[in-house]
Amino acid sequence: MTDVVIIGAGNAGLSAALSARENGANVDVLEAAEEGAYGSDSFFSGGLFRVAYDKFADLSALVDDLNIAGEGMEEVAQYTEGDFLDDWGRVTGYRFDAELAEHVVSNSFEALKWLHEVGGVPFISPLIVDENGHVRHSRPGWHGGFVEASGAGVGLTTALLNSTTAAGVEIRYGWEAIGVRRRVEEGGWVVTARRQDGSEAEVAADALIVASGGFQADPEWRTRDLGVGWDLAKVRGSVHNTGAGLRFMLDQGAKAVGNWSGCHAVAWSTGSGDAGRPDANHVFERESHPFGISVNAKGERFLDEGEDFGAYTYAKYGKVILTQPNQVAWQIFDDKTPSLWTDEYRYKNPEAARMQADSLEQLADRLVQRGLASKEVFLKTVNDYNDAVDESIEFNPYVKDGKRTNGLTPDKTNWSQRIDKGPFYAFEVTCGITFTFGGVKVDKGARVLDRTDRPIPDLYAVGEAVGGLYYFNYASGTGLTAGAVLGREAGRLAAGE
Ligand SMILES: Cc1cc2nc3c(=O)[nH]c(=O)nc-3n(C[C@H](O)[C@H](O)[C@H](O)COP(=O)(O)OP(=O)(O)OC[C@H]3O[C@@H](n4cnc5c(N)ncnc54)[C@H](O)[C@@H]3O)c2cc1C
Repeated sequence: MTDVVIIGAGNAGLSAALSARENGANVDVLEAAEEGAYGSDSFFSGGLFRVAYDKFADLSALVDDLNIAGEGMEEVAQYTEGDFLDDWGRVTGYRFDAELAEHVVSNSFEALKWLHEVGGVPFISPLIVDENGHVRHSRPGWHGGFVEASGAGVGLTTALLNSTTAAGVEIRYGWEAIGVRRRVEEGGWVVTARRQDGSEAEVAADALIVASGGFQADPEWRTRDLGVGWDLAKVRGSVHNTGAGLRFMLDQGAKAVGNWSGCHAVAWSTGSGDAGRPDANHVFERESHPFGISVNAKGERFLDEGEDFGAYTYAKYGKVILTQPNQVAWQIFDDKTPSLWTDEYRYKNPEAARMQADSLEQLADRLVQRGLASKEVFLKTVNDYNDAVDESIEFNPYVKDGKRTNGLTPDKTNWSQRIDKGPFYAFEVTCGITFTFGGVKVDKGARVLDRTDRPIPDLYAVGEAVGGLYYFNYASGTGLTAGAVLGREAGRLAAGE
């Protein structure tokens, strides 16, 4: 029987484990987090998977009790492989590894079906029927084809941990991989791990799958590769993803590819703490920027909040916020928009920075207490914005409505509504880093390639450790899907199939 060792028990690692086991291998997963501590970004995630489908009804293979009735269905009736690839290519400036991305896209549906059937992941559809009987994304301003793990990242991780252990996969919690070396004569790899009690142990296997994420939780590496100021970002997820697996693979001659100075980073509540909190999951996301304005500590706007659907801008706006004074911004809304906010805005966390006032003047006073430099500049920014809104265009949160401002720098190019109906709200955000984009080069079988594009024997990489998939920006829900597709593939090949 083939022995496979996997570093990291997130979505990608557990998909690989399940697949390797399904294909007859003996599988050991080394996981740095303690049992029950849920160390992975997959645990902290919203559990949203982007998926291509030809007919909406096809999703009934993934979602039990799929609701296919409702007006407005035509907008979500299909999300083809071409749509998925176009959206992915567009947001990454077409610098992505198109062959690998196409492989992920064309296998997305089958991989998620497998995750559901074999992995036991309970999917729901993130579409809802609104008060007018229209079908729409549960996140207004979102776009693309999706299914969502029921219970978000917690539901996803719990299902995968259950199915892998039931299949006979050994998960060694509290085993942090600290080094790997090649077994010279018989092939395969030896992983050295440090256990919770400080002792070290070795695990030898015929194949090694690295699924230990990016380097986003290491402030020193972030500053070196992403640049000055990135040490100040908050980590949204796992504290364990410090790039150890990447370092092992690069030391073994793997080719570094992709956007090493780039990452996925969002507007993130300043009430969040410094890293992912198991009790609070992803509730600090603040992704309804398209329906308000964002101002910095000078009281000025600094980006086009309505440039595109939130699904295609949220992952790049964290970087813009990081470059603002004090790495802080406030999302400003009036009372026309609460029904459009994502659920996270309603989460009653006492630490979450949420302000409410009956007038803009009062709101400005609150913001001054939080570090706003000039009340006058803030009020002028809101007034200038209100004056610039084109009232001849109808507001529609479900399409790019073109309802814009004219003459501002920067203009807001969709979903512009005057901010004039109290109460008024401000949500304080900073930069929350999700994961880094740089990684190692892999082929469609997730085999790690060396600097001359030859596979390094018996070595695979999956999930955030893979490079070349994302540049500058990201289409929401792609990460979990790519992890499932390549994880499944890596497990199969590592098992010798
Ligand atoms: C708050 C949040 C929300 C998100 N929402 C979504 C979403 O809805 N949809 C989506 O597609 N993506 C989402 N993402 C991104 C998504 O979570 C990641 O792309 C995906 O989970 C990566 O999976 P992975 O298996 O590569 O990494 P992870 O899930 O992070 O797993 C890596 C594992 O490796 C372990 N590890 C690290 N180093 C070592 C070591 N040296 N030894 C042993 N173990 C180690 C870690 O503890 C961890 O368990 C979100 C991320 C966050 C943080």
